[in-house]
Amino acid sequence: MTTEAEKKCVFCEIVQGSSPAYKIAEDELSMCILDIHPYTKGHCLVISKRHVPWWHELTDEENASLFRMAQMIAGRMMDTLRPDFVFLYARGRRIPHTHLFLIPTYSGDVLDRFFNALEKFQESPRSLVELTRENAMEEAAALLRMK
Ligand SMILES: [Zn+2]
Repeated sequence: MTTEAEKKCVFCEIVQGSSPAYKIAEDELSMCILDIHPYTKGHCLVISKRHVPWWHELTDEENASLFRMAQMIAGRMMDTLRPDFVFLYARGRRIPHTHLFLIPTYSGDVLDRFFNALEKFQESPRSLVELTRENAMEEAAALLRMK
């Protein structure tokens, strides 16, 4: 059965084969495709085959599949495209279907410049400096540690 969200979702269409994509790899639970708006040559997305908005809502098996595929493709990128490293992030605000960005990254490219700029921002505002104080760090760690 297809839900309304899946009917409107381009990644569900790609998984079902009703929208085109440059498919790189797939297994039972995941698929890797080229991003059609690449930051660099070979920029890929690893998507879950099931319509799941956020990566942290995936099953253990889906999580394992996505990250196994991401690692395999990153290795292939390192061999063939020779980036400095492969950047990985998961967002999902624009298309609410889990997708990991896998981006071959080179010193001075658009993402490298963006994150260098972000690091400067990260260190300057007073509210963020407050987060580095020992009691704030202890509080954050206490919130995140598994009991
Ligand atoms: Zn979807």
